[in-house]
Amino acid sequence: MNTRNQDFLSSVERMFDQAAELVGIPDDLRHKIKVANSTYTVRFGVRLRNKLYTFVGYRSVHSEHREPVKGGIRYSPYADQDEVEALAALMTYKCALVEAPFGGSKGALVIDPNEWEPHELERITRRFTQELAKRNLISPAQNVPAPDMGTGEREMAWMADEYKRLNPNELNTWACVTGKPVSKGGIRGRVEATGRGVQYALQEAFRHPQDIEHSGLSGTLAGKRIVVQGLGNVGYHAAQFLSQEDDALIIGVMERDGAVYDEDGIDVDGLHKHIHETGGVKGFKGFTNDSNSVLTCNCDIFIPAALEGVITKENADDIKANIIIEAANGPITFTANEMLRDRGCLIIPDLYANAGGVTVSYFEWVKNIGHIRFGRMQRRQHERQTMDMVAAVEEMTGAKFPERLLARIIQGPTELDLVRSGLDDVMREGYQVISAKWHSDPRIPDLRTAAMMIAIERIRDSYTSLGI
Ligand code: NAD
Repeated sequence: MNTRNQDFLSSVERMFDQAAELVGIPDDLRHKIKVANSTYTVRFGVRLRNKLYTFVGYRSVHSEHREPVKGGIRYSPYADQDEVEALAALMTYKCALVEAPFGGSKGALVIDPNEWEPHELERITRRFTQELAKRNLISPAQNVPAPDMGTGEREMAWMADEYKRLNPNELNTWACVTGKPVSKGGIRGRVEATGRGVQYALQEAFRHPQDIEHSGLSGTLAGKRIVVQGLGNVGYHAAQFLSQEDDALIIGVMERDGAVYDEDGIDVDGLHKHIHETGGVKGFKGFTNDSNSVLTCNCDIFIPAALEGVITKENADDIKANIIIEAANGPITFTANEMLRDRGCLIIPDLYANAGGVTVSYFEWVKNIGHIRFGRMQRRQHERQTMDMVAAVEEMTGAKFPERLLARIIQGPTELDLVRSGLDDVMREGYQVISAKWHSDPRIPDLRTAAMMIAIERIRDSYTSLGI
């Protein structure tokens, strides 16, 4: 039994209960929404290194009030049923909150990917895909996995390819997983999506001065001092965009093997390269073994982007950040959440903050089913129409259009422009509805409860209209 995973599931359920109480839904429906519909455990053998290894995988389906169900697959030695069920539940609430038309699911393979060679991982992933496919736990219409901790484009490409082999006559096979490389039916902007969504979420929060002042901060993101835990896919992109585009200072990064601290701002790209070359942060300028000193340092914003249960009742009082944005799933336990909230910390909750991934996965799934890239039909038409407009303005005024603006104005949107625009819209609107809900009723204690309430109301409406 992994107590961290048990605590994670219990925290998600307690947060759900608190919000459901405020929504006021009947107990029977509340119970139905709360529990996972099914969780499969698969055990399969793969012959590697002259030995038969038995691997354990999970796929939990939390709610099928909308199908397909959606959720990542993580590769982690610590995964278990409690963890996938907690993550699957969060997916249900997340999709409802950002209006992605999916139910919630999540999967895991109990494995440390660093212990295996790529060709071995490929065989394991393909065997896992076969086990999932046999049970309809991967399918464009029923269950669509995506990357999570320890998996990325490469694993999604293997899964999609294996599914295609098993279903050669199906038309929409690419839509069986999202987060694929662009060359294998992926969408531009998916790799960066979750980190990009964290950036858009923070930008929107800073457009709500009332919320920012509640946390004790003011002004804009520029110059804000940020600490990030986990410089993987999500943490790296969030840190990179916030420092490059919003002029925030990344002063601390915590990783598995220690931390890096630099009051003047860390070179995020340089550190990311260093991690890839050496396997950790050790040896980088500002390295310290004392990760806890970085976790508890004076900073404005803390971005946990690694794993769950990192802020507990034991260390919550030591965290000094004014804002915590949960890029990871479940980094703050239920009790720690209350302690931080009581001292005025603004917590931007996981079910909203890291929804950028599923949002762009939704765009990818639509692209796969539509079999056409976004922007393909209208890009040149937009260009021509704008050229005509420019010509008309020049003719009417007798003046030349400024050269430096011309190229930007006439250029039609690329797929990446459209993906970022769609994601920005979802993240802005998401924050607006959550914040409005929070301020609408003094009984609603925080953004998390408000977000959860909105999700529960939408799921309740979906069940009610089905007559269940
Ligand atoms: P990843 O594997 O790319 O990165 C995780 C990073 O955290 C790695 O760099 C790892 O070394 C580091 N890490 C692991 N244990 C650590 C520890 N104890 N202390 C400090 N650092 C540690 O994974 P990811 O895809 O970036 O996912 C991170 C979190 O974001 C997870 O909670 C995941 O569920 C969540 N998430 C991911 C996505 C996505 O699109 N990838 C979407 C939504 C939510």
